[in-house]
Amino acid sequence: MRALLPTTLTLAAAFVGSLAPLASESRAVKTRPSVLRDAAPGQRVPIRLGPDLRLIGTVQRTVTSSYGSRVVRGIVESVPGTQFVLVVHGDAVAGTVYSPTKPLRVIPVGSGYSAVIEADSPPTGIDFLEMDFAAAPHEIPGRAPASSRLRADSDSPVIDLVVLFTKKALQEIGSRDALISLLELQIADANLALENSGVDGSVRLVGVKPARYNESEDLFDVHRDHVQETKLNKRSRKFSRRFGAEYATVIAATESGCGWATIPGPAGIYQERDFLDRVQAIKGFSFKSTISAQCLQTVPLILAHELGHNLANCHEHEEGGGGPCRPYARGHRLGIVGTVMVAAGRRIPHFSNPAVEYSGIPTGVPRGEEDPADAARNLRRVLPIASQIARCKVDCEP
Ligand SMILES: [Zn+2]
Repeated sequence: MRALLPTTLTLAAAFVGSLAPLASESRAVKTRPSVLRDAAPGQRVPIRLGPDLRLIGTVQRTVTSSYGSRVVRGIVESVPGTQFVLVVHGDAVAGTVYSPTKPLRVIPVGSGYSAVIEADSPPTGIDFLEMDFAAAPHEIPGRAPASSRLRADSDSPVIDLVVLFTKKALQEIGSRDALISLLELQIADANLALENSGVDGSVRLVGVKPARYNESEDLFDVHRDHVQETKLNKRSRKFSRRFGAEYATVIAATESGCGWATIPGPAGIYQERDFLDRVQAIKGFSFKSTISAQCLQTVPLILAHELGHNLANCHEHEEGGGGPCRPYARGHRLGIVGTVMVAAGRRIPHFSNPAVEYSGIPTGVPRGEEDPADAARNLRRVLPIASQIARCKVDCEP
């Protein structure tokens, strides 16, 4: 009955900050990655986040990611509606505790320690660029309809992700293990949101590498580097191609901006039948985003949010909802929280879906009603197409 034995995941061996429960000051806890690696579904785990903060979690699922990280997911029984995700990579432990009142973030700080902080809210504002297909320099060849070239297997669609990071970003995060644990955490957060919203599909990390993008303090400067046709991007593309990745994100150490993403434009591009042909005709097409190192650490679901933009979802209607999105491909506010695609504020691990509730409140608005919000519906349509865009998948290489 090993599964029922409680195991202490973290020890409050070191403590920084106030004794007040859930204080916003950062506190450091010694982590025990080996215990986390051995956690099994059904196991009850006291998760000690400091001397004054102890949560009882029940493990629901454990996964070893394609990049070799251990991902442990579960619920906190003592706080109804609370899900947690913990990731261990090397000796680095990263995590999110999605408490409805105060979400927490566990950030690796080195030497087997992690800091526990209140999760941040990202800044407001438009954070996406429309990618103009008309300006793409490549001709669209007359080819067989894209649907006939789709992979024959009917497995759940997977979006493959490569990550490029700047020198300063790695310095800010501390170590490669810490960086990978945080990337895998953002991916696990995104996958939790897809699953919570009833979307079949997932994201996986297939490659991580340093790259010399500019070290501007403005995230938008870096994103511009990332989307322009440059020698640097040719090298990055070669790297992406090696893995057949559809999605490339850059992590940069910037002061302003949290994340940027490109939305394939013009409006309604995904509705067009030849969409797949058109994007494949663009040499080296990939969905691109740029995320600041600080937001990678402190803002849950920032990668899910930017990926959501890449997959043709916009902010909530109240935010003006600009961009080339279907009317219902939107974020949705539920009082003080919002779904993944809301422009700012605390996000819950859900894409909008009127058929799914969070704390008894629908997470979306049906099509046909005023200000519809059903990003899940849009993702169910777009994600399988997007997952087919790379010319050669990992599993088609010899
Ligand atoms: Zn946004």
